[in-house]
Amino acid sequence: MKGRLVALLGPSQVEIQEYELPALPPGAALLKVRRANVCGSDLHIWHFLSVAFRDVVMGHEFVAEVAELGEGVTTDSAGQPLSVGDRVAAVYYHTCLKCAACSRGDFEMCLNVNRNSALAPATPPHFNGAFATHYYLSPGQFFYKVPDEVSDAAAAGANCGLAQMVFAIDKLGVRYGQNVVVQGAGGLGLYAAAVANRQGARVIVVEKEPVRIAAALQFGAHDIVDINEFPSAEERTARIMELTGGIGADVVIELTGRASAFAEAVDFSRPGGHIASIGNLNVGKEFEISFAPALITRKQLRIFGILRYHPWYLKRALTFLAENASRFPFEELSDRVFALDDINTALELSEARAVSRAAIIP
Ligand SMILES: [Zn+2]
Ligand SMILES: [Zn+2]
Repeated sequence: MKGRLVALLGPSQVEIQEYELPALPPGAALLKVRRANVCGSDLHIWHFLSVAFRDVVMGHEFVAEVAELGEGVTTDSAGQPLSVGDRVAAVYYHTCLKCAACSRGDFEMCLNVNRNSALAPATPPHFNGAFATHYYLSPGQFFYKVPDEVSDAAAAGANCGLAQMVFAIDKLGVRYGQNVVVQGAGGLGLYAAAVANRQGARVIVVEKEPVRIAAALQFGAHDIVDINEFPSAEERTARIMELTGGIGADVVIELTGRASAFAEAVDFSRPGGHIASIGNLNVGKEFEISFAPALITRKQLRIFGILRYHPWYLKRALTFLAENASRFPFEELSDRVFALDDINTALELSEARAVSRAAIIP
């Protein structure tokens, strides 16, 4: 039997290829992809801007069902019994548990993180990406059953953005009653707002787009700092100070991808505050405004760069979706569905921001 996948051939150049489904070694599983999202990093990879991902199968954010279980696979990574047809979400990167980073407990920094996802489409087992009919779950790769009350549309975003935000909120030490500022209300910002809200924090979202502001209010924001209303950094800082009783934010989470937002995060923060740098991913983007590192020293700030998550946070993300299915409109994050053959259209419209979260249903 054969399956189909989206192979990346060159900058903005993809092709649907067909390969024989792989035979499973002990410990592996074959999944049937139910729904995969086009994530911001997929667009980056599509343009050949990621050196690690060139001759690869595209896609990483997805929900699937078990098509076949290799010898010895009877449960998911949390010990929940598993059978063919069960819906699952998989951690999209590898954690070898043996390298220097894994040995320190920094699983999200595993030195072999791209071991499977960077393989060429032509190399067996072929199905190492989510824009495909099938996905090969390699032995040792973490994956979890999707609770029944979580829809495919909600579950598809769990293994990237949501798990990362649940991890970030933990790592930043967000506690009940704290003031948390979220810069940017794209998909990640909405997840951050929802998780911080459920943690008992007061959530302040800084955003400009009216559609995103409306969404932020649906996803747990208590206050909005509308950039149209507060156009300068000074005005926004003054507003944050006003909203936090003149103290500043306990935690600021930068999710805009704009370098200047980091400088603002330093201004928003209270002395001893925690700042997460998550949105700025593109190396080479120079600072758009002047910035004094002395502010970090004088305010005794702690800066956290956060990428990926510890694998078991995917289980927590799925539980979060189940517990909050009626509280936040997770399905609405994904606004248009495409067939695998329409991958070019899905990527182009995502790039043009004509859709906010395109989903592929193969
Ligand atoms: Zn992603
Ligand atoms: Zn490792």
